[in-house]
Amino acid sequence: MGSSRAAKHSKTTATLWFFLAIGLACPRATAWGIRQGKEFFPLSASASRVTMAGSSVVYHSLMWCCSILPRWRITCYKGWTSAHFASAASYTTFHENWKVKSSKDSRHRVTKLWHVGLFRNRVFYCTSSAGAWEVPLTSERYGVQRLPFSHVSDKDLAFFEHTVPGRVITDPDMLKPFNVDWLKMVRGCSKVLLKPRISGEVSEILRYCNERNLAVTPQGGNTGLVGGSVPVFDEIILSTALMNQVISFNGVSGILVCQAGCILETLNQYVEEQEFIMPLDLGAKGSCHIGGNVATNAGGIRLLRYGSLRGTVLGLEAVLANGRVLNCLTSLRKDNTGYDLKQLFIGSEGTLGVITAVSILCPRKPKAANVAFLGCGSFAHVLETFKVCKGMLGEILSAYEFLDDECMKLVQKHLKLNNPLTGEGSPFYVLIETSGSNAGHDEEKLNNFLEQVISSGLVIAGTLATDETKIKALWALRERITEALTHDGYVYKYDISLPVEKLYDLVCDTRARLGKSAKNVVGYGHLGDGNLHLNITADSYQQTLLNAIEPFVYEWTAKYQGSISAEHGLGFKKKQHIYYSKPDEAVELMQKVKAMLDPRGILNPYKTLPTQGSH
Ligand SMILES: Cc1cc2nc3c(=O)[nH]c(=O)nc-3n(C[C@H](O)[C@H](O)[C@H](O)COP(=O)(O)OP(=O)(O)OC[C@H]3O[C@@H](n4cnc5c(N)ncnc54)[C@H](O)[C@@H]3O)c2cc1C
Repeated sequence: MGSSRAAKHSKTTATLWFFLAIGLACPRATAWGIRQGKEFFPLSASASRVTMAGSSVVYHSLMWCCSILPRWRITCYKGWTSAHFASAASYTTFHENWKVKSSKDSRHRVTKLWHVGLFRNRVFYCTSSAGAWEVPLTSERYGVQRLPFSHVSDKDLAFFEHTVPGRVITDPDMLKPFNVDWLKMVRGCSKVLLKPRISGEVSEILRYCNERNLAVTPQGGNTGLVGGSVPVFDEIILSTALMNQVISFNGVSGILVCQAGCILETLNQYVEEQEFIMPLDLGAKGSCHIGGNVATNAGGIRLLRYGSLRGTVLGLEAVLANGRVLNCLTSLRKDNTGYDLKQLFIGSEGTLGVITAVSILCPRKPKAANVAFLGCGSFAHVLETFKVCKGMLGEILSAYEFLDDECMKLVQKHLKLNNPLTGEGSPFYVLIETSGSNAGHDEEKLNNFLEQVISSGLVIAGTLATDETKIKALWALRERITEALTHDGYVYKYDISLPVEKLYDLVCDTRARLGKSAKNVVGYGHLGDGNLHLNITADSYQQTLLNAIEPFVYEWTAKYQGSISAEHGLGFKKKQHIYYSKPDEAVELMQKVKAMLDPRGILNPYKTLPTQGSH
């Protein structure tokens, strides 16, 4: 009797383990297949979708069964999360990997596939090797002292539940991805995530938090690269994910008014249907929110042509720390009535107010786009090519990006992308995009330019793309470098503005200084804007390596009157270094502005401005 029960028990256990293995293996293998650029090995795309759906059902049934066995639950959960995070950059990648034709269709498919899990509304793909649970707490790694904010009580939770019913997240497992940044380098331990839908709810939340002295971290798509979007301690995370409505679009002026949580790529698709485009574009477009873009004053690849958000954002609505709603959501191109307050919030990284809506000027969608991918023998030739390019392409030039050969090797190695230029490879690559209203005219200009730079020896190899698929493939080589770097190990990231002629010297000097102590030292960026992304990788975080890099990189940048943060902001990681780029008086004034708008300092504490008295 006893032995038959034992046999039955072990049979049940074995069956459960069998399903558990399938539940874990299928999503992992599917995710792996997608990452590898295969539809699903060895299955087809539709089979992989069925597998994914099936494994999801199996998984959730198991979750239910295992809820009585906490140890199992944790194991299962880890399997699920690591397979189901989707990356910022990956959304765009899916388009290519799934060979999707219409953008609308692709959105539907991706949503169907990736939003079945626990992280609804998240498109976030775990690209680095470390899991969220392995990232050291920011407060411990950097030795930060918690400021005397209140702790969230049950009474507070009851208030939040009343204000945003059903949109208060307190499950520690569900909170994990919101506590860790995209690079998996900083981690907080927030116990509450709030998801308001309208500015009135944001106002209620902030008014209450201000009164209760509760700290708040605004969060958009959580793709920021300087540790600004996640808490340092237990700050309440205020997510704009559900504030995703377009308010209006004017087809004559191209002015778009929308809520802050709209995803950049979704907005671009929306305005494209009406023959316009968003004035900014960046590798994280599939996940970042327009509010996050404005809060960081994101640059990206269209800045060369359409200028910074400081020019294209016409108005915004922000909720102040005390809950007051500042409605500067004007749609006027000209408005000189007093100080331009919206500028205070652009680039303020969530420290002065929560941006809840923006009004933004969209340019017309160009009728023709061409991309040339060229190889240059030296950085001097990259610069000379830029000079010729500006002269010969003038008004149709929309991007001039560069990468060094080390970057090319990383995207080849980690993402299996192909170098489109045959031969031995070039020390530098340049991506030039033109966009204009007359295809024939643009092509003629581009051909003349190419003839000139090839015959003069400035360019040693090149390829030209006019159709969308090839254009996307060429752009992927540049846009996915950030992603490739995360596969290479721990990344020390620097986003520097410098006079263009000095841009690559910093990479060479850093490489020479670090020698073999770094795994890779690479340089790429928006050359047309004088913006270098210097990245150093190592197998793991090493304080000695960091000491060799900093303050060297900052001192070098200051020596040539550069900026230590060109477009990513200061966030948590760079805030102490602000003095390399701003005089004491300017920082002091910033601190006064912060104290005036947020006297209790509840908005995104520990970010952007240096700790008082630390200089
Ligand atoms: C692959 C990749 C490529 C990238 N390429 C570029 C690039 O080319 N150019 C560039 O500039 N950046 C780039 N970034 C960085 C990042 O995508 C941008 O900084 C982006 O603007 C952040 O938007 P987000 O919605 O993800 O904001 P989050 O990461 O969620 O937040 C960023 C900061 O803004 C604050 N914030 C967010 N939303 C609000 C709001 N509504 N109100 C107030 N404060 C808010 C947060 O508190 C935080 O301090 C890249 C990132 C990745 C991962």
